[in-house]
This record gives sequence, structure tokens and C-alpha cells, in this order.
Amino acid sequence: MIPIPPEIRAILGALRGAGHEACPVGGCVRDSLLGLAPGDWDVCTSALPSEVIALFGEENTLPTGLKHGTVTVRSGGARAEVTTYRTDGAYGDHRRPDKVRFVSSLGEDLARRDFTVNAMALDAEGRVVDLFGGRKDLEAKCIRCVGDPETRFREDALRILRALRFAARLGFGVEPATASAMLFCRGLLSAVSRERVCAELKGFLSAPAPGALAAAFAPVLEAAMPPLTAPEIADAAAGLDAAAPDAALRLALLCEKRSSTEAADLLDGLKADNEMKRRVRAFRESLDVRPERRAELLPLLKRLGQADAALLASLPGREGMARLLAETAGLPASVRELAVTGEDLLELGAAPGPMVGQALEDLLAMVWEGAADNARSSLLFHAERLLRYRIDSYGAVVFRETEAGPEVLMILHRKGWGFPKGHPLRGEEETACAAREIREETGVEAEIDPRFRRETVSERRGDRRRVIFFLGRYRAGEPLPQPGEARAAAWFPAETAAALVYYPGDREIYLDALEYCRKTKQ
Ligand code: ATP
Ligand code: MG
Repeated sequence: MIPIPPEIRAILGALRGAGHEACPVGGCVRDSLLGLAPGDWDVCTSALPSEVIALFGEENTLPTGLKHGTVTVRSGGARAEVTTYRTDGAYGDHRRPDKVRFVSSLGEDLARRDFTVNAMALDAEGRVVDLFGGRKDLEAKCIRCVGDPETRFREDALRILRALRFAARLGFGVEPATASAMLFCRGLLSAVSRERVCAELKGFLSAPAPGALAAAFAPVLEAAMPPLTAPEIADAAAGLDAAAPDAALRLALLCEKRSSTEAADLLDGLKADNEMKRRVRAFRESLDVRPERRAELLPLLKRLGQADAALLASLPGREGMARLLAETAGLPASVRELAVTGEDLLELGAAPGPMVGQALEDLLAMVWEGAADNARSSLLFHAERLLRYRIDSYGAVVFRETEAGPEVLMILHRKGWGFPKGHPLRGEEETACAAREIREETGVEAEIDPRFRRETVSERRGDRRRVIFFLGRYRAGEPLPQPGEARAAAWFPAETAAALVYYPGDREIYLDALEYCRKTKQ
């Protein structure tokens, strides 16, 4: 006895109680007999659509396909499609019956269904109504048309692809007369709506092992997915089963040899949705990349995301990539997966604009190199330093004592005289940076006094950057302009130097520094 869910039993009970016939039919009977859990329960009934609506009330029904006799009925948390017994009239366009005729017998309704395994129902006693040998075909694992195959495919060419989808999904073969009619009638597929074709192809390609069917029915697929040709489909078919059962991945394999424009044309032609297009494109562009190192894996992950990268890595010959993926499993695949956001960086003082994205990329790279953890506190710590690196520079006003009084070390920039300064190396301390900059720009060694610390802002090409000056005390060396750094470097008497300083902000700091220097004279 096939177990029927209580919500469906309630619908059947209500229809039968009102004097109508009502039976579960089609896929749910097929799947139940195979021991699979049915995806949905379709019901066929002798009641007319108007009677179905009247019986369950408008609030519990949706007129899904009234013209074809289908009403969706809500029952408990479930929904079922309830369809009036019907036969389909002539199919002028090989896809949709021009008109359907409601009939009174279940037998006539079963006769219009596509395949024997889909043409069974359960009667009120729970017995399987099987007028076309559906059970036998289930046992033989065989997809066979109800009636004459060619006639049935001429009525509705989509059935050609449905046959492929059911065969692939259930692991069935196709009965020979049905198979030759599929090949013979394949040209009719061009009349079928692209969206429907696409939906069936997706179903076919996400079946466990569609490879052998794709090879045997390559001409059918050729008709369904121009510009691919039967020989190239047959070629690629051999690789389909080894790929994970994902339609986008397998579509990418099918059009691997095509240019990206042709692949895009194929998907446009199928009216594939944008997500599908994006995934196929990402897979196609990744098929010839075989990352050996973490740094090569990261761009792939950015393109594909974790889940699709795992699908790609499951292809044969990609053990290296699979190992890398396993090693880096917890790592963020893109800046979106970092534990901090651009907002956080703005709060830390990053300038709105490209700096934010670049800093996020740098953080991602640090996480991948093992230099930072993908935890908020760790990332904020490193972000601060990174931003400092980008925004702030450090320098010093360096004094030395002479017989004639204090002298200050200055360098000549393009615009005028100033003090040595520059950006820290990654992770470099502020004062270490200042000391290094002095050395690199002038050749002088100085000791930095961090107790004197003043900020000024330099504005360059619209960017506001902080400059932090410390006080420096001369240790050794003679000032020499270093190649590429400054035009000149020299000591100046402290008293007269203020007049030379080019930027007013620097001058203020200089005067402060001079006073501090005098007060703290050792
Ligand atoms: P699935 O699990 O994919 O939903 P299903 O068998 O329920 O499988 P549906 O497309 O939901 O497939 O169709 C429900 C039933 O309606 C089928 O089992 C079949 O009896 C009938 N049917 C659907 N489409 C056609 C068609 N194009 N021609 C003839 N009968 C069809
Ligand atoms: Mg169904």
C-alpha cells in the first residue's frame, strides 16, 4: 500500500465525499513505486475546475491553469495540483494543445500522459491503476511513450527532452521505438519555448549520470542547444558523469571548446537566467586553471565561490586543487566574507574611494598568508596599520648642537624646504619609520624622541594625508641628498630656519619643536 500524506488524503476525501472521482496520479505514483519520496502530489479528478473551486473555496484555491483544468488547492501546509480528467486536442504548435476537452473517465486521462511510468494513478482503494504497462516498464527501467511515440512527440516535442530527463534522473534506458522517434522528431524542438527547453536540459544535466544518454542522443541535444554540434556533444559526454551533478558545471564542460561569445550565445538562446549564465561563465573560465599554490587558488575562489570551487575541484585530475581547498576550507573566499567591512575601515579613517577596497584586498591576502586571522579584532588591528601605511607618514625635525647654537636638518623638495618624512613599511613602528626616512633621505642617523609628536595634514591631489613629526636628535652622519629622494639636504641655523620652511603647517610644528628642543636640552 502506498502511503499518501494526510493533506493529500484530505483533498481526495473532500472530492470523493462530494461524489467525484479523485486519484493521485503521475510522478507521485511512479516515485512511490520506486521507493523514492515524491516531490509533489498531483491529483486528477472527474470534478470540473469550477466544482473544485466551489468545493474548497476561493481562499484555498489558485486558478493555476484553468484552461487546462488545473486548480492548485491548499490543504494544511501543503499544496496539490488538482486537474480535471481531460484529453488534449490537436497540437497545432507541437507544444500546447489547441484546446483540451474535459472527459469523465480516468482511462482517457491516463492515455494523454507522456510515458507509461507517468501514466499510473491510485484508485480509492489504494490500488495502482496501470493501463499501459507502467509497472512493467518501471521494473525494466524503461521510458516508453504511451501510444505511438512519433504521434506523441508531434503533439508535444518537449516530451523528447522529458524522456531524456526522466531516463537520466531514474537511471533508465529508452525503449527502442521511443528512442528512434526522439531522434526522428528532434527538429520539432525548435518550435518549443526556449525556457521550457532550458528547464528540461537543466533537469537532464543535473541527473546523476547523463553521459551515456547524452552520447546516444547527441543529435537531440544538438537540436536543443545550438550552436553545439552532435559530434562535440558526444565527445564531451564522456566527461559528464565524472563531474558533479550540476547543470552549470556540465554545461561549461559541453561548451569548453567554444569561444566565450559562443557559450554566451548558447545560454542567451536558452533564455537561461543570469545566475546560470554567471556560473557557466565562471566555470568555463576556470576549466584550464590548475592551482598549485594558495595564491593561485584565491582568484579562482573569488570567481567561483566556495561551493562552485569545490564542484570544480571534484573533476578528475584536480586532486591538487581539492587538497588546497581542504587546507584553506575556513578561509574567506572574498572580501565579502571578511569579518570586517568597508564601513569599519571608514570608521578607522580610511578615505572613501578605492583605498577601502584595496585595504580589504590586502587584509584578505594577509588572512591567506596566515599573517592575520579572519576575526574582527585581528582584522581591525591589521586594518589600522594598513591604513596608517596608506594615510599617514612619519618624519622628524632633527636638531644638532653646535658652538654657534642649535642647527636643524632640512631637505629641499620640489616645492621648497622641509623635513624628512615618509610612509611606513608594512607593520613598521612610527618612530622606526621616522628614523629610517631620515636615514634614507639624508644619510643622517638620529634618535627619535616620541614625546614630541605633532600632526599636520598634507593635501595632495585632493587626498588629505596625515603627517606626524617627532623630534630627532643628531647621532651621526653628514647630510647628503640621497638619489631620488631630495634635491638637497643640509643643516641650517635653528634661528633662521623658520623662514625657509615651505608649508605653513610644517613651520608651526618647527617652531614648537625648536622650543621643545631648548627646554629639553641635554
Ligand atoms: P517530477 O518529479 O519531475 O515533477 P512528474 O512526473 O510529476 O515528475 P510533471 O512535469 O510534474 O512530472 O508532470 C506531472 C504529470 O503530468 C506527469 O507524470 C505526466 O503524467 C503528465 N505530463 C506532464 N507533462 C506532460 C506532457 N508534456 N505530455 C504528457 N503528459 C505530461
Ligand atoms: Mg511533478
